[in-house]
Amino acid sequence: MNVFEKMENMEHEQLMFFNDNKTGLKGIIGIHNSVLGPALGGTRLWHYASEQEAINDVLRLSRGMSFKSSISGIHLGGGKAVIIDNPNAKKDEAYWRSYGKFVDNLGGKYITAEDVGTNTRFIEYISLETDHVAGKPDYLGGGGDPSPVTAYGVYLGMKAAQKQLSGSESLEGKKVLVQGAGHVGQYLIDHLAKEKAVISIADINKANLKMVSDKYKVKVVSPTDVYHADMDIYAPCALGASINDSTIPQLKCGVIAGAANNQLADELVHGNLLRDKGIIYAPDFLINAGGVINCYIETIGYNRPRALAATENIYDQTLAVLDNAAKAHRNAQEVALEIAMQRIENIGKTRQRR
Ligand code: NAD
Repeated sequence: MNVFEKMENMEHEQLMFFNDNKTGLKGIIGIHNSVLGPALGGTRLWHYASEQEAINDVLRLSRGMSFKSSISGIHLGGGKAVIIDNPNAKKDEAYWRSYGKFVDNLGGKYITAEDVGTNTRFIEYISLETDHVAGKPDYLGGGGDPSPVTAYGVYLGMKAAQKQLSGSESLEGKKVLVQGAGHVGQYLIDHLAKEKAVISIADINKANLKMVSDKYKVKVVSPTDVYHADMDIYAPCALGASINDSTIPQLKCGVIAGAANNQLADELVHGNLLRDKGIIYAPDFLINAGGVINCYIETIGYNRPRALAATENIYDQTLAVLDNAAKAHRNAQEVALEIAMQRIENIGKTRQRR
């Protein structure tokens, strides 16, 4: 399928390819939908095996952001950027400022933030070239790294899913496997430890495993043993598509609730398979919205209590979606998507009438 066919199929508005020979910067900004507001989404720095892989990633991630912001009731569209990691490029100030110039070229239609591979230091460099950036450090008036707020929302979504399964939201004594002990994973582990969950972790990064093992009582599981591990709750907090044809048959958990974007390789097929297996799946874009909520509050004047209060809605929303899905014997991801799409459609009609 060529790029335009993919954009048509997934209903994207715009892709912007950028290249800077001086710094070795190369990547793509994807704007999926801007009906609800400027398209906000983080920048992912990743080793892509091919350009196609990078294009597919930016298309899937930016589409997910449209639905995430929509279901969260915030006034943002969906966008995302991917930078194709070139090991020969120095990821220095010049590199990130060059990227900031490309973001600025879009005149505010896209607002960037952190994602996998980027951090507040890079965001600070980007902010020297554009105002269209969130996740800035607090000393620049920003909301800082959105990961703790994301983790808080994931934790609340996990509790709601556990309540749907068992009637009790308590995670005490529940065996939770966190796949990916990175930014969000570590904050999530902190919530789980405080609630006395029995925590296992898996990561390909040994430094992260050590950092978490030194601080918390956790069992380390090999990344290849995750799917058949003995767990009540599987929390995907690494990359997407970990729930697929080969992993679903191995899963023995009752709940899946994690931070990763696009956890289901195919939303319809794999959402249905989980439903049929009786696994409660907390829709990823619903429960990992804390970060984008935090960024949104930053765009209107940062206030931490307000960001946390808005994130707390995730608990009730998750319960409502899971309950509706169960009553109608439907796939929870599909139910959540319908709610998100409906808001975009309704607001789209209003705007056309102006
Ligand atoms: P991160 O890069 O800090 O952490 C990801 C971790 O996953 C790393 O420690 C990495 O080594 C590990 N990992 C990668 N591949 C793995 C594998 N195959 N098995 C086990 N571990 C593996 O990223 P993050 O900011 O913590 O984000 C985690 C996920 O949550 C991503 O999918 C991201 O898009 C999503 N997300 C993040 C935020 C946020 O606020 N940071 C918000 C919404 C969604």
